[in-house]
Amino acid sequence: MKVRSIIFMAALFTAMNVCGQTQVIAHRGYWDKEGASQNSRASLRNALDLNVYGSETDIWITVDGHLMVNHDPSFGGVTLQTSTYEQCKDLTLSNGEKMPELKEFLQMMKDTKSATKLIIEIKKHDKPEANRAAARATVKAVNEYGVAERVEYISFSLDVCKELVRCAPKARVAYLSGDITPAMLFNDGITGIDYHLDALRKNPHWVAEAHGLKMDVNVWTVNEVAEMAEMKKLGVDFITTNKPLEAIEVCREK
Ligand code: MG
Repeated sequence: MKVRSIIFMAALFTAMNVCGQTQVIAHRGYWDKEGASQNSRASLRNALDLNVYGSETDIWITVDGHLMVNHDPSFGGVTLQTSTYEQCKDLTLSNGEKMPELKEFLQMMKDTKSATKLIIEIKKHDKPEANRAAARATVKAVNEYGVAERVEYISFSLDVCKELVRCAPKARVAYLSGDITPAMLFNDGITGIDYHLDALRKNPHWVAEAHGLKMDVNVWTVNEVAEMAEMKKLGVDFITTNKPLEAIEVCREK
């Protein structure tokens, strides 16, 4: 290998924060920084700049089919899944941004040179039709922006996960609820488990079971350094965290 190639590869690995097997996903973006707030454009920008493996974000579909970026079902008294885009578009985040639409995040993914992926959580809506519609609309938007290779999906809803598998059979799709074995999910075409710390502590054998099926293992939301080290030792592929800088350090340690 030529020296330039070696230097390039070394730089790439540093930039990607590749650290053994475990990599970092910034939960709701990297928002714990001046000028950002959770699920804002600024928090996605910060995560892209950090070049972590992924930047997680949350999506609701409005009654008129717009995909809004927000964690909670409601914001400022407006329930996203029962409202129109017109009712949501001027909601103002704590950093002064208007609530983003997913398509703005997809444009940022299209424009960036960062290797960071967008990890899209499709929230569990009250109606099954809304869950499936959100999954379909999200895949359609991702394809329209040409960023399918840069996106992965997660959901607490098994219906959402199944619809994602149907609409985007090549995509990585992980289930969040922590109550189903990797083997059962594998039978539905789901490609990963993304479970709470306690679910993996209770079922540490699920890590090997998932890996044996070529499924990913992600753990949420790990903010304490000792717990990050514990999960890294357990062999998880990804740590989703509100503290990406600390997680990068833990992952770098031998
Ligand atoms: Mg989320």
